[in-house]
Amino acid sequence: KESAAEKVLSFIKKNNIEFVDMKFMDFPGQWQHFTVPVSVFDESSFEDGFGFDGSSMRGWKRINESDMLIIPDPNTMFVDPFIDAPTISLICDVYEPATKEKYDRCPRNIAQKAEAYLKSTGLADTSYFGPEAEFFVFDDVRFDSGPNFSFYQVDSIEGRWNSGREENPNLGYKPRYKEGYFPVPPTDQLMDLRNEMVQNLIKVGIDVEAQHHEVASGGQCEIDMKFQPLLKSADQLLMFKYIIKNTARKHGKTVTYMPKPIFGDNGSGMHVHVSLWLKNKPLFAGGGYAGLSETALYFIGGILKHAPSLLAFTNPTTNSYKRLVPGFEAPVNLAYSQRNRSASIRIPMYSNSPKAKRVEFRCPDPSSNPYLAFSAILMAGLDGVMNRIDPGDPLDKDIYDMSPEELKDVPSTPESLGAALKALADDHEYLLKGNVFTEDVINAWINYKMDREVKPLALRPHPFEFEQYFDV
Ligand code: GLN
Ligand code: MG
Ligand code: MG
Ligand code: MG
Repeated sequence: KESAAEKVLSFIKKNNIEFVDMKFMDFPGQWQHFTVPVSVFDESSFEDGFGFDGSSMRGWKRINESDMLIIPDPNTMFVDPFIDAPTISLICDVYEPATKEKYDRCPRNIAQKAEAYLKSTGLADTSYFGPEAEFFVFDDVRFDSGPNFSFYQVDSIEGRWNSGREENPNLGYKPRYKEGYFPVPPTDQLMDLRNEMVQNLIKVGIDVEAQHHEVASGGQCEIDMKFQPLLKSADQLLMFKYIIKNTARKHGKTVTYMPKPIFGDNGSGMHVHVSLWLKNKPLFAGGGYAGLSETALYFIGGILKHAPSLLAFTNPTTNSYKRLVPGFEAPVNLAYSQRNRSASIRIPMYSNSPKAKRVEFRCPDPSSNPYLAFSAILMAGLDGVMNRIDPGDPLDKDIYDMSPEELKDVPSTPESLGAALKALADDHEYLLKGNVFTEDVINAWINYKMDREVKPLALRPHPFEFEQYFDV
């Protein structure tokens, strides 16, 4: 039987592939790449890999220790639909050249260790992750003479994005405020673009479930992929971002996964649906609240308990916390509930099938590195299962409507990235189990985020400060 590596090599021959594009991700989760002609690619490439300069990678090596290796994973091959010359892509693992060991800070390595740790507990052998990554499509100002979006059009006082209504007053059929989800065309102007995105996703082997416009008034979209095991789901999320951005680019549009690009309108979340399985049997269905098993309820207990530190990975940008505010279907309280979109954890009730039983964690957003986010979610949930952490009572009310008095015992999501990083510094034992996240990874993440994002932002005068203080 042909091995995965042999399959890649025979695919290259049969299809006259000319280039192999090596893709790997930096610490925050952005794909990097370099390309080799097929003449230098053979069986040994899967053993010896290729060298690269690790000091160019955000959050990784210093210049004096920067030589690193990548070794492609033959199970990740796809034909890159955006490159003119016939090119296959391979997702790679990062190694230390001296020891030939996987690099601790490589996100893919962390995800692989999380999957191995789950198996080692004997509680389950597979964790499934289904992310719903929302995004905004804007006209690309570099292509368009009359942009209908620029950062300066966001009215920082009134809060509404005026979406170019002044510049292009005759563009009818614009979705009304909060009514983007989901009138048919011509109000939905992105139908063809989303279909083309879906066609490209299918071409690279991703199973797609649905595509639709989202709630925000202009250009917010969602395309849902089928759930997959943790590592595969994280691989697919980076493929997804690549496909979505490049398809948009071909049409003179840009895509952003920034969680809250527009003040006063809905932000972009990345709800994550999770379930645990053992020997092909679902472990989350049972006779408890909302048809959940005890395992599922403890899993929820773990997520809610560790949420403040967990959010340092699932909501890892300063912008993330501008989304987690009341009124936009984003969670603000650490509670769980069936069907309730104002809680951090929702139990979808569309189906009674035990196989469909899952929990939806609604805090995460698409600025997160999916390898780190999914691994951290799994570790928090497992900690709940292993220590039988009681999730408390469900909260089946619209949390946005509850008074401060009623909410006084319901904890809130952290209010800033700085607060989440502080929580991570204080609470990360659960992530270190099985050496999944190391002390080094936790510290490097906190330092990277503080020094490169939290502190620099705090140093900069903000447009809103000019509105408020210029005339003091
Ligand atoms: N955009 C919302 C969020 O920020 C979710 C809206 C929805 O999917 N119903 O999470
Ligand atoms: Mg959805
Ligand atoms: Mg959605
Ligand atoms: Mg959802």
